[in-house]
Amino acid sequence: MWGMDASKTSSGPVASRAAGIELIALSKRYDGGSVAVNAIDLRIAEGSYCCLLGPSGCGKSTTLRMIAGHESVSSGDILMGSRNITDLPAAARGTAMMFQSFALFPHLTALDNVAFSLKMKGVARAERQQQAQALLERVAMGHLAQRLPGELSGGQQQRVALARALMNHPKVLLLDEPLSALDPFLRIQMRAELRRWQQELGLTFIHVTHSQEEAMALADTMVVMNHGVIEQVGSPHQIYNRPVNEFVARFMGGHNVLRLPQGLMAVRNDHLQLGSPAEACPSLGGTVTDVEYQGTHVLLGVEAVDQQGATGVTVMVPEARFAEHPVQLGQAVSLWWQPQQAHALAA
Ligand code: ADP
Repeated sequence: MWGMDASKTSSGPVASRAAGIELIALSKRYDGGSVAVNAIDLRIAEGSYCCLLGPSGCGKSTTLRMIAGHESVSSGDILMGSRNITDLPAAARGTAMMFQSFALFPHLTALDNVAFSLKMKGVARAERQQQAQALLERVAMGHLAQRLPGELSGGQQQRVALARALMNHPKVLLLDEPLSALDPFLRIQMRAELRRWQQELGLTFIHVTHSQEEAMALADTMVVMNHGVIEQVGSPHQIYNRPVNEFVARFMGGHNVLRLPQGLMAVRNDHLQLGSPAEACPSLGGTVTDVEYQGTHVLLGVEAVDQQGATGVTVMVPEARFAEHPVQLGQAVSLWWQPQQAHALAA
């Protein structure tokens, strides 16, 4: 088994081959009857970066913990490659976990943090230190192996946490909100680095986040969850441009949900235009309620009137266009869009 191989090899640890994950009618009911995850089906391709995304309480972490083996499954199956891992203990699955703020032991050096799981397995000191050093070198941290976590930057700590997670040759790396405790600047740097490592290692990454921006920046596949079910699976481009329903459109942001004669439609903020509609283009009247300068563009709040009455609409106007045609608070405006830029939403 991979875990045993890891402790026996003398050539130093190298990441093993990626595996895909398949969830089949996977459910989790906690004691007391609440359904945290409700019969979800999902295929995650091997070697891909998958983000589980959704509001707090939607079941993302429970799903990740079931894949990790840290939470029992109420019903359904989890496959890794062709193996059914549903009932395997966590350590036998071929997954590794990275937690929020990396959860390094503060009193252990980087090297001892990485070597910790081998120590628990009884691997001799010289052997485990050699493997840990090799992994730290893999993430360009070999020269800082003797530092304590508190003596490392956030980015360096992330690399130590990654090296530690790689120690058991995982096929799938599970990341539970790893970036959410970082300040915004560091978070953007760290996510770029995570993406680079995922591509370089070629492993399957499954990353839980509540941030749309983070998921779009990282994912090959985004899985949007709500109330224990999957609302939509797709590439960031597909999900942003073709949200399937009102929940996804509103959760992703950047869209207006309009009640039009054809039904519920989504139109992106940056696809709404001000002024007289081009021929055969749909339009709505409204009044400007907010003007917010954002640098590259100006965000306008408009109280518009659609089929069912007043509705708040956001319009993103490029800065140069706003400078040519400024509008003011309280001004009556007409909004229009190209018909092909309105996208029907399921009720
Ligand atoms: P998310 O990660 O999307 O914020 P979670 O998977 O943590 O959501 O939780 C999903 C639902 O399950 C929530 O309603 C939460 O309150 C509930 N839940 C999570 N953990 C437990 C638990 N140990 N016992 C009971 N209910 C839980």
